[in-house]
Amino acid sequence: MSAFATLDDLGDIRGKVALVRVDLNLPMADGAVTDDTRIRASAPTILELADAGAKVLLLAHFGRPGGNRSSVMSLSMVIDAVQDVLGREVMFVPEVAGPVVAQTIGILRPGDIAVLENTRFWPGEEANDGDFAKAIAANGDFYVNDAFSAAHRAHATTEALAHLLPAYAGRSMEAELTALGKALDAPEKPVAAVVGGAKVSSKLGVLKHLVGKVDHLIIGGGMANTFLAARGVAVGKSLCEHDLAATAEEILAAADKAGCTVHLPYDVVVAKEFAANPASLRTCNVHEVAADEMILDIGPAAVEALGDVLKTCRTLVWNGPLGAFEIPPFDAATVALAKTAAALTREGGLVSVAGGGDTVAALNHAGVAGDFTYVSTAGGAFLEWMEGRVLPGVAALERA
Ligand code: ADP
Ligand code: MG
Repeated sequence: MSAFATLDDLGDIRGKVALVRVDLNLPMADGAVTDDTRIRASAPTILELADAGAKVLLLAHFGRPGGNRSSVMSLSMVIDAVQDVLGREVMFVPEVAGPVVAQTIGILRPGDIAVLENTRFWPGEEANDGDFAKAIAANGDFYVNDAFSAAHRAHATTEALAHLLPAYAGRSMEAELTALGKALDAPEKPVAAVVGGAKVSSKLGVLKHLVGKVDHLIIGGGMANTFLAARGVAVGKSLCEHDLAATAEEILAAADKAGCTVHLPYDVVVAKEFAANPASLRTCNVHEVAADEMILDIGPAAVEALGDVLKTCRTLVWNGPLGAFEIPPFDAATVALAKTAAALTREGGLVSVAGGGDTVAALNHAGVAGDFTYVSTAGGAFLEWMEGRVLPGVAALERA
């Protein structure tokens, strides 16, 4: 028995009211949704429940209205996009609890879908208020959480509600938990982690947790500069947190103690200005960076060596690009290593899980996101999971 119940554990739900927490915190421009990825992520769960005859009420937050109603943050604005993705008519209800919701349920037929108003219009949501959750629960028969991306917050519709009704993980939540579990909780060894991105300070928790979990820690991006500098390498004008030298040393020492091999680049791509294909572009050994140069990517020799490391591994977790991938040619290392990881995954030898806003963009840019075993779009929740934290929304789903 898995740690949490899924839709497979639901009995006959015809005519029952499903309260389904989803992620509808969608990017907007000029009143229209610009990216419907999050709706598509939960569409299978919503349609499965509707097709089984449930009356499906969707719960979600939208923006940061701070506990007040706000016309520009009403979930009525996303209804068209939700209907487009689901291919069904969807009703909007301007409340989350109380008689208006109860009356709506009376009108809905089995299989109908409605979006309730932005949960954050009520202060009880972010306060994880029990009475607020009870008022919502009063209109439902069971609860489904399909929003892993909101699971790092203990809010009424992500946490408290799960204790008040029979609670189930939706398909998207189930897929995420299964993939993440395979990557870090009970991975096939050896395990490699790639941690890149801009700053060590934003990923200290991740680095500290991973050194005790993985066999190979591959450090790239701006944060590699901080580690190199701590090791006495002159990094010129590179993005570097010199004040974190001692912290970097502590992480290296902890890795050493735990038997985790840390991989820092030995060649790098440098330039004097941060621009596409600058005249000053060159590749050099890490010990040859000039005072007026910036390290903007790890070098080709390092990438090749890292590819060889991945070939010896069975599991890979990846967060953070290896270089300033938005500007060519500083995307080269990220693209090359991502392609290697994708090929190893396709061949069946590697379980590869990646996440992080820029990481997902980088993998899409490399054209390999679809080849990874799992790519998480969850952002904050993914990073907290990489830090080894218990996510309240996930813990609340776990069977007693
Ligand atoms: P994610 O969103 O996947 O968690 P981050 O936000 O931590 O990743 O890091 C992504 C950013 O790091 C990108 O904007 C990228 O340009 C930057 N970056 C990576 N390497 C370097 C570098 N060597 N110098 C400056 N910025 C870098
Ligand atoms: Mg980012």
